[in-house]
Amino acid sequence: MHDVVIIGSGCAGSTAAIYAARANLKPLVVAGHDAGGQLSLTTLVENFPGFPQGIDGPELVENMKRQAQSFGAEYVSGAVLEADFSARPFRLDIEGEWIEARTVIVASGASARWLGLPSEQKLIGHGVSSCATCDGFFYRGKTIMVIGGGDSAMEEANFLTRFGREVTVVHRREEFRASRIMLDRARRNPKIKFLTNTVVEEVHDVGKNLVTGVRLRNVKSGETWDQEVDGFFLAIGHIPNTKVFRGQIETDAEGYILSKGGARTNIPGVFHAGDVQDRVYRQAITASGAGCMAAMEAERYLEAEGH
Ligand code: NAP
Repeated sequence: MHDVVIIGSGCAGSTAAIYAARANLKPLVVAGHDAGGQLSLTTLVENFPGFPQGIDGPELVENMKRQAQSFGAEYVSGAVLEADFSARPFRLDIEGEWIEARTVIVASGASARWLGLPSEQKLIGHGVSSCATCDGFFYRGKTIMVIGGGDSAMEEANFLTRFGREVTVVHRREEFRASRIMLDRARRNPKIKFLTNTVVEEVHDVGKNLVTGVRLRNVKSGETWDQEVDGFFLAIGHIPNTKVFRGQIETDAEGYILSKGGARTNIPGVFHAGDVQDRVYRQAITASGAGCMAAMEAERYLEAEGH
């Protein structure tokens, strides 16, 4: 029987693990399919306080893990395949093995949605990115492409004009999903160009292990052409990793956990931390802060229950 099981090993999960371990709760961290979370997909992180020279995302999250382990947190690889929160103790199926927990912190994150092109997948971290705030800085004076037609795409395109000399927004339809105000702001920005009714067929150049351009197709005319770009940013939404909790933890229509205040979910003893609940900030530092909150609430909950 575990006092605290933390689902996810990104910065939310590992910060929760540091706090829970220091409270002597010997947390078990289930690392998940993408151990280290989204930070493990980024390069240099320059906005996490405390690292004036920046720190590589994978190194940052590995440091957090080592810090948690030094206080007694245990990490297991694999993912939660099934969860039963209907009775106490809670039960979790980790890759076929059921474990029991008094409290659970869900820090399973949200995964960036990708187009799914093999060339795109191979070039992640080499010019392909899903996070403008993380990687925009590397494209000073360069040409950038942003894929998507929602608020994120407009926000990221605007943000990226601080660095790039030209930002092209590529959207698959004529109409935008983005709110009027965000769209107008992007349209007023002289550095932003729009390509509508356009999809990406391939990202070049896997052979060079670097983004050099893309093959585009106009969905109306069928015309295809190549365009040179240095940075390729996806802003086509995120998918919160809550599938295995469906029907138990309350979520909104898109699957983000609905917070009941603080780190609480609708199930007493089950807490949320990080991007699995956050559709607004989605930063390493906010996820870490949320992990801290969840661990403190789990500790208080256990105390109140007399454990
Ligand atoms: P979103 O609103 O779901 O928009 C995703 C965009 O990506 C849509 O335009 C969609 O095209 C496109 N898309 C999805 N899958 C695609 C694919 N496979 N290929 C090509 N295009 C694809 O997501 P979001 O922009 O991340 O926003 C999520 C939520 O956060 C929204 O509620 C948004 O308002 C909010 N948000 C707010 C702010 C702000 O207010 N500052 C900033 C960012 C986000 P279709 O339109 O054709 O479906």
